[in-house]
Amino acid sequence: MDDRAILWPYEGGEVRDFYYARYAHPTVAEAEARLGELDGGEAILFPSGTGAATALVLTLLKPGDTIALAAGAYFGTGKLFETLGQWGLQHVEFDQTGPPPEGAQLVWLEAPSNPFLTMPDLEAAVAYPAPVVVDSTVATPICLRPLELGADYALHSVTKYLGGHDDVLLGAVVCRDPAAAGSLRHVRARTGISPSSEEAWRLLRSLRTLEVRVRRQLETAAILADRLRAHPKVTLVRYPGIGGLISFDVADGGAARRVETSTRLVLNATSLGSVQSLIESRHKWEGERCPEGLLRFSVGLEDPDELWADLAQALERA
Ligand code: PLP
Repeated sequence: MDDRAILWPYEGGEVRDFYYARYAHPTVAEAEARLGELDGGEAILFPSGTGAATALVLTLLKPGDTIALAAGAYFGTGKLFETLGQWGLQHVEFDQTGPPPEGAQLVWLEAPSNPFLTMPDLEAAVAYPAPVVVDSTVATPICLRPLELGADYALHSVTKYLGGHDDVLLGAVVCRDPAAAGSLRHVRARTGISPSSEEAWRLLRSLRTLEVRVRRQLETAAILADRLRAHPKVTLVRYPGIGGLISFDVADGGAARRVETSTRLVLNATSLGSVQSLIESRHKWEGERCPEGLLRFSVGLEDPDELWADLAQALERA
């Protein structure tokens, strides 16, 4: 079977598993199978994490329904739900370290939240009478398997740790219930929110190193979080000990700008989860909800001492 094609002939006039790439593609299916094993469910790929969230919400909800969204979750998720408000979807934010508020048809958690790095109270959420989604982009299946803890869906921006090399834009939903996965596949095919097979191929390559990358990022993040906590220019460090993402505060917006523009090894760019360390001030994107001095730091695979030397010289300018 030519996996660079987007269509495959019928066999004796019969439709087989693969016939047109919007419905299913062999490379995409292989990446989904691998990701499903990692998270313990049935995985479905989408062209981005945001595309995955869109497809999931369109599949599960109808106009007038409400999503209980973890406050401080990835700001783009709130913006997506705001956009879908045009079609009658509502959302309320709540503190995910406690139980969701009454009256929601879907609970949306993030483990840990980006960039505030709170962990959800999953036990309280799964006791709630509505499906539970855990965006576990930052935790990855190496640190957390939400379906085993009772969540109905795990969502990933595959673009981040799963892709890991800044050359993949993909998203995934992993479902506990095969029937729910079937509905999601149906909506994906009907809406055309279908992933590219080249991206799926790069994901398969990346998954071979996922565990070693994440373990190294965890070790380095723990070392750097400790050193940041002891640094006189740093007023607050957020690091829950899960994943390779840290955020920390310096005095104000001016200090944050000086730090992010002074690193040499660490790239001043958005995103997270790459082999390359990334730093950015989040206030310019997130506005009021984010302190002006907050810097989000995504730990890569570089030598921990070299990373610290770079951060320390940048912090001198804070
Ligand atoms: N979820 C989290 C936690 C994220 O950090 C992001 C992107 O930053 C997304 C979802 C959205 O993913 P994508 O950029 O692949 O659409």
